[in-house]
Amino acid sequence: MESNKQITVTSPLLPDLDEFNELLKDIWNRKWITNNGHYHQELEKALCEYLKVPYISLFTNGTLPLITALQALRITGEVITTPYSFVATTHSLWWNGIKPVFVDIDPATGNIDPDKIEAAITSKTTAIMPVHVYGKPCDVKRIQEIADKYGLKVIYDAAHAFGVEVNGESILTAGDMSTLSFHATKVYNTIEGGALVMHDEQTKKRIDYLKNFGFAGETEVVAPGINSKMDEMRSAYGLLNLRQVDKAIEARRQVAVKYREALCDVPGISFFDDMPGVKHNYSYFPVFVDAEKYGMTRDELYFKMKEHGVLGRRYFYPLISTFSTYRGLESATQENLPNAYRMADEVICLPMHHALSGEDVERIINEIKR
Ligand SMILES: *Cc1c(COP(=O)(O)O)cnc(C)c1O
Repeated sequence: MESNKQITVTSPLLPDLDEFNELLKDIWNRKWITNNGHYHQELEKALCEYLKVPYISLFTNGTLPLITALQALRITGEVITTPYSFVATTHSLWWNGIKPVFVDIDPATGNIDPDKIEAAITSKTTAIMPVHVYGKPCDVKRIQEIADKYGLKVIYDAAHAFGVEVNGESILTAGDMSTLSFHATKVYNTIEGGALVMHDEQTKKRIDYLKNFGFAGETEVVAPGINSKMDEMRSAYGLLNLRQVDKAIEARRQVAVKYREALCDVPGISFFDDMPGVKHNYSYFPVFVDAEKYGMTRDELYFKMKEHGVLGRRYFYPLISTFSTYRGLESATQENLPNAYRMADEVICLPMHHALSGEDVERIINEIKR
């Protein structure tokens, strides 16, 4: 039955197949399929302009730029981060032999609480790795003040913050570097892909070496680099998707408007409003279920929706700090992270993408209102 059609939490933004074919033909003619080719260079240029950032380096996914940024800045010891994110954030520290130190989140935003960062700093702390969760900008000014006071680097996991601006300026220029993910599930995708945003040409050069084994020339290897170069096919795909991403974000915004209108008076259901001065990308639409007031727990609602073919996602549950690799850390306790625990227990991200129909949105809303 049509009404039982599954509504997925996301749907990939795909370029026009004929247009993509034309670019593929061009790549076949050029016979240059990876290693800083024509489309790789074109996409870097186009992204700098679109995102309003000075320098960018493309990667094969959104995890390797995190790992590489830590390498480039020679981060060691302990890094302060948030447990309320996708596991890749903390994994990037682990892959560098760095001890993650979890700090609780601000319930008003879901982002790391700047007021709690200083208490977590020790003599081994070298950096802060915050996340702009759901694309909501962190308090970058406060975080930078703390970083400057203690001589710490700041690397933002900006995987959710593609195109997000505060007062007309890109959020991606905050801190020392910011990383992006272009995974299929994100607002802007290159199938798999990612990028690192930096402030100066010298850093870009170093990052470009690091993503190509450390090669700085035909015979010179300057660092123990990794291989994370984006190929020509995905760069070309990315150029085409960049042309339609604004339209996709506008479609998402309209879904968010409908959700907010319909859910604002449902007892026990809350959500974030847009922030003043912020250009949002509507990458996710998390709602929070207060079981007592709603009359049903988050999980009860989640599974009821699932039964009816409405697939939300419990992002970010469970917290990173509860996974076996990390739960032994002193900072991983519930007492240290009460807000993160609560949010992880209450959240459901509703389906949110450019291709949701009015009927889909209606069905999703009715699941929650019922
Ligand atoms: C998606 C995501 C990543 C990882 O990106 P991949 O492209 O899947 O490697 C990292 N951090 C956050 C917060 C993410 O959501």
